Amino acid sequence: MNRFEGKTVLVTGGNSGIGLATAQAFAAEGARVVITGRDEASLAAARETLGANAIAIRNVTGTVAAARELAQRLADEHVRLDAVFVNAGIATFAPFTDIDEKAWDETFAINVKGPYFQIQSLAPLLNQGASIVLNGSINAHIGMPMSSVYAASKAALVSLAKTLSAELLPRGARVNVVSPGPIATPLHEKLGLVDDAAAQLQSQIPLGRFGKSSEVAATVLHLAAQESGFIVGTEIVIDGGMSQL
Ligand code: NDP
Repeated sequence: MNRFEGKTVLVTGGNSGIGLATAQAFAAEGARVVITGRDEASLAAARETLGANAIAIRNVTGTVAAARELAQRLADEHVRLDAVFVNAGIATFAPFTDIDEKAWDETFAINVKGPYFQIQSLAPLLNQGASIVLNGSINAHIGMPMSSVYAASKAALVSLAKTLSAELLPRGARVNVVSPGPIATPLHEKLGLVDDAAAQLQSQIPLGRFGKSSEVAATVLHLAAQESGFIVGTEIVIDGGMSQL
């Protein structure tokens, strides 16, 4: 399929994991892809895989200034966006009693404040009929111990998909959210989710395996494409049944 021929898409956190797989899936279907992230080396490596006209921008999300800078950089390059995957995020896992102000602020800055002001800043650059997809998590819906601050940040995104849809519809844009369950990405190593901990988590997934980044990417592309034009303000859960069965 070539659903994104002539389209331009932005993937935040497009240099790793789910974001990289989604950026590559968009590129494979003809899109010009813009990615953001923090790490220069993986940004450059990712850009190499995305075709000659891909753009990689170092942009550390979490502040209004960073959101404005990103939009200004895109405007300077005359970029207009047909789809945005607001994916960059961090996972903070610790007992509720150990979460301090720094961990709270960092999680909400990167996972909520950054996306909120990115969308606000990017709104003038959206083409008619644009689609915004947020990356949530099934942690927004399940009471997993140690996930309180992360889960709350992702629940905020589920809410934003609805309210921002209502506000952006007059501009012809749709906002939806995907909520993945455990997906095998570098995030799991960053969290120390290996060996016994990984096996324990896997045992909670009815399908008996971790999800793949490509499986999330496929759903994001569906929500970004015209074929899903009647899907607005809603959530698609991609979790092997973990939050459902
Ligand atoms: P990765 O750690 O592989 O990717 C995280 C991405 O976010 C990286 O590209 C990283 O860039 C970027 N990022 C993090 N913080 C910032 C920041 N302050 N500014 C800019 N970029 C930033 O993990 P995943 O691919 O697994 O995670 C992607 C998203 O998927 C996250 O929002 C996560 O919460 C969500 N998710 C993941 C699940 C999983 O099981 N893997 C399940 C449910 C949701 P850099 O590498 O340069 O730091």
